[in-house]
Amino acid sequence: MSNSPAESPSLEEAPILHVDLDAFFASVEILDDPSLRGKPVCVGGAAERGVIASASYEARRHGVKSAMPSVVARRLCPDLIILPGRFDRYEEYSHQFHGVVNDLTPDYEPLGLDEVFADLRSLRRLGVRPLDAARELRGRIREELQLECGVGLGRNKLFAKLASKQSKPHVVDHQLVVGEGVVWVSPELEERWIAELPVRALWGVGPQTATKLHQLGLRWVRDLAKVDEETLARHLGAAMAATLVAYARGEDERTVTVHRELKSLGHDQTFAISLTSLEEVLSQCRHHAGVVARALRGQGRVARTISVVLRFDDLESLSRSQTLPFGIDDESALTSVAQALVRSVDLSRPVRLLGLYASSFLERSDNQVQLSFDVVTEGDRRNEAIEQSREYQVSSASLRDALDDIRRRYGASSVGVASDLASQGLRIERQRGSHAFGPEGPVK
Ligand SMILES: [Mg+2]
Repeated sequence: MSNSPAESPSLEEAPILHVDLDAFFASVEILDDPSLRGKPVCVGGAAERGVIASASYEARRHGVKSAMPSVVARRLCPDLIILPGRFDRYEEYSHQFHGVVNDLTPDYEPLGLDEVFADLRSLRRLGVRPLDAARELRGRIREELQLECGVGLGRNKLFAKLASKQSKPHVVDHQLVVGEGVVWVSPELEERWIAELPVRALWGVGPQTATKLHQLGLRWVRDLAKVDEETLARHLGAAMAATLVAYARGEDERTVTVHRELKSLGHDQTFAISLTSLEEVLSQCRHHAGVVARALRGQGRVARTISVVLRFDDLESLSRSQTLPFGIDDESALTSVAQALVRSVDLSRPVRLLGLYASSFLERSDNQVQLSFDVVTEGDRRNEAIEQSREYQVSSASLRDALDDIRRRYGASSVGVASDLASQGLRIERQRGSHAFGPEGPVK
């Protein structure tokens, strides 16, 4: 099968990248115990009914593959070392791997621990070429994680994933053949390339579906491309039939789904001149609350936990937080809680840094702010603040939506609380303290 031509594709031709770490679990085990290098190593179940989860290339030379029963693997390779697996360790590597991809683009979608799809289109502004990005990514993974990987580039997810598979080392007659590392499927190659693949290579075709397809006389993707979708639907169901026929024609509408599990969102600021009065700190609370509230609303979320962090001139820090029975995204509601928290702190030392963070998110549509609750205790300032924030959250909803609309249309500086207005209009600080965590998909 022919591979990528020499010329370098544009982002329009190769917007989707797929990267897959080679023999991931086994490679991590070898990195942590160099005495395993060059030996046939697997991670999997060593017991009678165990299955191989990951096999080193040395093991693959003997015909050992993932998903193979360990009994069969042992028969093929009597010296096989089967290790039980340390998923905490693989997750550490996986986080590092996602970090390297995130440096390339935040538009990525992890698939299991060792694969990622990335949409490169946001790199257009930087003039990045997909092949350069792919090579750089591969170099960094090799340098920083000491792991090998294959990278595929294509017009859609289907071709990107098929290409990364093609880019990897493979075994021919018990000998390891080095892969190209990076493969791009050009539009000219697409049709020829996919036609030559066995149906089993297509995404979603497991052993059972493959058997059914074989029984129908469909062995190759080119057979699938010719088949009548309705006939196929009678055997595989409408959804599977439609997907496979589309794949066989090289069509794949799936987008890279960026899923960032945001744990906290916040804003902090170190002051050039430390704040020495309560009034100044309270005023900064309102400013920070505005920034955080707008960020929350931009994401359609409300937060139940509000925290403030203060750092003093002697560099000692402290934090206070309050969890509410409902979520808030309203500036006055956030201000009310944050100010109550600040008032609970001894402010006899100058304040060098103030941070305001929101966490414990709810979708805005799931928020039950209207429900009455019964926590107000006479004289308790925090509970008063909670009750006040609820009133703000409920009463100012329509006003808030109107102001957000104005900001969207005329820019962030057009609407602000009067006290926030500097000569340049309302200044929006760069948001810090927003952490993106890659999701931890199921172990494959
Ligand atoms: Mg892999």
